[in-house]
Amino acid sequence: MTVYTDRLGRARERMRELGVDVLLLSTGADLPYFTGYEAMPLERLTMLVVRADREAEPVLIVPRLEAPRVVEHPDAFAIRPWDETDDPIAVVAELARGVRAAAIGDQTWARFVLALQAVLPAVEFRRATDVTGPLRIVKDAAEIDALRAAATAVDDIAVVMRDRGFAGRREIDVHRELVERMLDAGHQRANFAIVATGSNAASPHHDPSTRIIERGELVLCDFGGTMNGYCSDITRMYSVGESAPDVRDAYDVLVAAQEAGVRSATVGTRCEAVDAAARRVIADAGYGDAFVHRTGHGIGAEAHEDPYVVAGNDTPLVPGHAFSVEPGIYLAGRFGMRLEDIVVATAAGPERLNRAPRDLAVVD
Ligand code: ZN
Ligand code: ZN
Ligand code: ZN
Repeated sequence: MTVYTDRLGRARERMRELGVDVLLLSTGADLPYFTGYEAMPLERLTMLVVRADREAEPVLIVPRLEAPRVVEHPDAFAIRPWDETDDPIAVVAELARGVRAAAIGDQTWARFVLALQAVLPAVEFRRATDVTGPLRIVKDAAEIDALRAAATAVDDIAVVMRDRGFAGRREIDVHRELVERMLDAGHQRANFAIVATGSNAASPHHDPSTRIIERGELVLCDFGGTMNGYCSDITRMYSVGESAPDVRDAYDVLVAAQEAGVRSATVGTRCEAVDAAARRVIADAGYGDAFVHRTGHGIGAEAHEDPYVVAGNDTPLVPGHAFSVEPGIYLAGRFGMRLEDIVVATAAGPERLNRAPRDLAVVD
């Protein structure tokens, strides 16, 4: 039994519990989780059709020209290529004949959802996440190893950057360097590389610009990519020369807040309590209004996924939950700072996957 047959078996169990007769997965991270194959986000339909009844074998419908990219797992699913003049919607409708409730991938293109609803008018459609979310949120040992390898790769980059000069370069130049280093370090793709300097960093998701980095400024580097199907995501701060005492004081608060968040992330703790633990430190220091986002997000095949570390999420942590702890302090017109590690909840306590030093690195 491969990992895919095991996962499909568990999905079908859950479908039967929820009264879902067929699971339809296209673009997005659910499909590779169950098949090892990622659909191209194109107008030609790729769709895995999984019926709840055990006799019906899952079928992956794929454009013929993309079929050679599919690694076959005949024990888990059959492959049905379709030709340019075929109607793939009709093929899905035929496989879904007689069903009452379908769960469709959250990131399926609307044109396919609407076409399927038109040919299956009596079928009730719901989100595939209801079926797949509870499976994907708990990472197995192989998935955690993949997250750890991706984290180690970006850790090494964060360390190398401590010896790189920043002054006189443009944000966009540092951005390109981070992207190239992620690819060189084994990532198949770079998902983002935020480089925000001086007052630009007061905007948490600033787009790197042609602004020239000057001495006395802070540089925020938040970067991540996908390596062997799993994501990295790290934020480290660099000070170009010595920074002002108020900036250093704020950074000490940030480090303490991040530490408090990580330490609180024990099994059984609610996600909202992890958010509160980090937020309290920042609020107590008088920067409460300057921490404008949630403390973190889950991470896996997607850069942002469940569980979200945010007020109102009462999900208790279980072993295998993987998520970021990334508090920030943003003061418009002055500076912005964030510190981010990926953490896994384990029975032995929270485990940080990122090990790069967390101090404010003084660079040239
Ligand atoms: Zn972010
Ligand atoms: Zn990040
Ligand atoms: Zn993040």
